[in-house]
Amino acid sequence: MSDAIRIRPHMDALPTYKAGKKADAVAGFEAFKLSSNENPMPPLPGILDVITAAALDINRYPDPLSTQLTLALARRFDVPIEMIATGTGSVGVCQQIVQAVVDAGDEVIYAWRSFEAYPIITLIAGGTSVQVPLNDEFGHDLSAMADAITPATRLIFVCTPNNPTGTSVSQVEFEAFMTRVPHDVLVVVDEAYVEFNRDPDAVDGMACIQKYPNVGVLRTFSKAYGLAALRIGFFIGPERVAQAVRKTAVPFGVSNIAQAAAVASLDLEPELLSRVTDIVATREWFENELRAIGVHVGNSQANFVWLALGPATDEFVVACNAKAVAVRPFSGEGVRISIGEREPLERIIEILKTFPR
Ligand SMILES: *Cc1c(COP(=O)(O)O)cnc(C)c1O
Repeated sequence: MSDAIRIRPHMDALPTYKAGKKADAVAGFEAFKLSSNENPMPPLPGILDVITAAALDINRYPDPLSTQLTLALARRFDVPIEMIATGTGSVGVCQQIVQAVVDAGDEVIYAWRSFEAYPIITLIAGGTSVQVPLNDEFGHDLSAMADAITPATRLIFVCTPNNPTGTSVSQVEFEAFMTRVPHDVLVVVDEAYVEFNRDPDAVDGMACIQKYPNVGVLRTFSKAYGLAALRIGFFIGPERVAQAVRKTAVPFGVSNIAQAAAVASLDLEPELLSRVTDIVATREWFENELRAIGVHVGNSQANFVWLALGPATDEFVVACNAKAVAVRPFSGEGVRISIGEREPLERIIEILKTFPR
């Protein structure tokens, strides 16, 4: 009688993480997946060589502290190694952060809609999510987020550029926000898409770490660096927090292959960032094409574009699927379209020309 097994009551309410779907096979169309904000480019040959070499050691446990990578990150960002913690993707690190600072009943504030992992990892820790609605331009309402702070607040996520809306928080807005955040509350700036941000006024998370004793930054190798399947991300922030975040990691979670590929990616950063420049150019082309046919689109600073289609969302997704393009629906709200190859984006432009809106 497995019904008798006692599972934590919260687990029934726990949403499952919805991964972006693959495109349906449709005769006559090459299929494209624009549903997970992945980098459309395959690994650089130099990275593949490093991965292949690291694979020869997979009979050994990896370095649990990711020492080589931590040293490389310390050099790259000019911070002491004690301020750095790595994990299995930045989602993994995000969960380590929540496990380190949130006790049962503590509150975690974040904008909504934002990254869908935040409610899940908050609930797993037994914390309470405080979701603050985005403003009319689908950006963070930082003054409402400051209003939401209570004595139970332990952690605030600021996702910029925001997933799934692509909006960027400015340095000025962030500084005004920080004047209202108590020193015992940790603010984590989730910069998963920072490499794609071209807003000159954007908040500089790494600079804020130096300026505020209660700010940390979350970064990933999954998006700009194209290592999504290897699961590697990192936190840089206050030493006490980084040390606690190391303790909540699953031991040996980050493979030797991921560590080696991440180190090599830092060495090949110029090549990788030139790919990012191409993606940004495609984003700007796509946004301009949409505006030219009268589609309202914001100023995305990420590798995706948000279309607030509201009740028409599901119908639009069906139309995309019919042309073998997978996008990411948020039913009743809108659709997130990852910037990849131009061909599927051209198909989407064609759909939108006749789509009722
Ligand atoms: C994709 C994403 C991440 C990180 O993903 P990992 O693959 O786990 O590194 C983190 N935050 C946001 C907002 C994301 O969209």
